[in-house]
Amino acid sequence: MTDPRRLVPRTDALLADPRLAAATRALGGALVKQAVVEAQQRARSGQIPPDAVADAAVAGLPVTATSLRAVINATGVVVHTNLGRAPLSEAARAAVIAAAGCTDVEFDLASGQRARRGRATIAALADAVPRAGAVHVVNNNAAALLLCGLVLAAGREIVVSRGELVEIGDGFRIPELLAASGATLREVGTTNRVHLRDYAEAIGEATGFVLKVHPSNFRVTGFTREVGVAELATLGPPVVVDIGSGLLRPHPLLPDEPDAATTLAQGASLVTASGDKLLGGPQAGLLFGDSEIVERLRRHPAARAMRVDKLTLAALEATVRGPEPPVAAMLTADVERLRERVWALVKRLDVAEVHDTVSAIGGGGAPGVELPSVAVSLPSHYAEALRRGTRPVVGRVERGRCLLDLRTVHPDEDEELLNAVLACT
Ligand SMILES: *Cc1c(COP(=O)(O)O)cnc(C)c1O
Repeated sequence: MTDPRRLVPRTDALLADPRLAAATRALGGALVKQAVVEAQQRARSGQIPPDAVADAAVAGLPVTATSLRAVINATGVVVHTNLGRAPLSEAARAAVIAAAGCTDVEFDLASGQRARRGRATIAALADAVPRAGAVHVVNNNAAALLLCGLVLAAGREIVVSRGELVEIGDGFRIPELLAASGATLREVGTTNRVHLRDYAEAIGEATGFVLKVHPSNFRVTGFTREVGVAELATLGPPVVVDIGSGLLRPHPLLPDEPDAATTLAQGASLVTASGDKLLGGPQAGLLFGDSEIVERLRRHPAARAMRVDKLTLAALEATVRGPEPPVAAMLTADVERLRERVWALVKRLDVAEVHDTVSAIGGGGAPGVELPSVAVSLPSHYAEALRRGTRPVVGRVERGRCLLDLRTVHPDEDEELLNAVLACT
């Protein structure tokens, strides 16, 4: 009798299958070949019959040529760093696709001459924060701070409160970053308290700038005192304020979260922020402030190493000019509306219950702010099964239940979420 393993179709025959040939054009040969080889191995080990190899290879094809997967964020953490922080708006996604080919990012179509890179994005940010004399965009907020250190304080001192020498996440510490610019940190005050006179005593010939960092991922309560931007601005040296989360204007739900417009109005020379936290855009570092300082930042050789790409510029402009991004909608989502959506899902699932919960801002923003929310509650083993599904869903496990918090799920994703849960049962 013939060994069925010898009947396993050959690779070239499989690659000629119209479905796999189309996939080769869409995904490239290597990924398709990998799916083919895996299907052949399953046939050789007797898991599938030889005539099922082509179908198995087709079923094993990746959806895109990247291994990054589109996941549904049901964690209830609005800005989830491990899930890529802010999801882009439809407008920003469309802008990314439009800019993905050749684009006039650095070219004036009217004159045919070179033009300033990212000018439309800069203009959108300047319109959103009219108080800023000038705007510059770099890769992320860490780069923005490093550039400030290089330009304003290399070989000199940065005066900063001890209580603001923070670690942001994954071992990333602001003081170490700034020290890498060649500046020396001149720490003032104690962990919980600092006074204007502490700053004044530390300021001298060697001072490059005074830094204020928003401690965005923790809160110190009790016997505390910090010095506001307006007071620091009276001291003389430039005041650089890292506001972290990227709010351009005050947000009614987040009264303790600093924003660029207010911080500049208080007298900051420069404000730095992230683009992919509460602003709801792509990863970017935003710099707003004094036009003479911003011009020096722009002209520093290291600015080129922090330059943002055309996809980021496109997404950022569309976020600032376009409709409200998902992050903003998640923050203000009405809890009764969330409850209706949860009920609609729970009615169609035997194992699910409605669960009142609280969502967090996350991403190193607005510590202590809790947003009431409603979740689909499932037995805890669903958490792993949902993560491993074809459309991965990330929930959170709390007191032995897997919670899917709908505040961070776009309403258009509810049906996919339902199907993902049904696929686990
Ligand atoms: C998040 C954060 C940073 C780091 O910003 P990235 O854009 O991730 O580089 C720096 N400072 C503060 C206060 C932050 O909250």
